Amino acid sequence: MGLNYTIDCRACGSHTEFSTTMRCQADAASALHIADHIDTECAIRCPVCRARLNTSQTEFLSQVSISLEA
Ligand SMILES: [Zn+2]
Repeated sequence: MGLNYTIDCRACGSHTEFSTTMRCQADAASALHIADHIDTECAIRCPVCRARLNTSQTEFLSQVSISLEA
């Protein structure tokens, strides 16, 4: 059980994929709601150029996609 993140950074044009492993199904379920509740106070940054991806929820969703891997 894990989450796959795909980042398409508009600042540098990089395409980055990474995944996280969830400890339990509840974690994965709550993580799926990340897209509905983007935290714009804590910066999420591009791993390549460090550009901030979550200046707004719209900005985040247009550059980052999250999918669940069973
Ligand atoms: Zn970037």
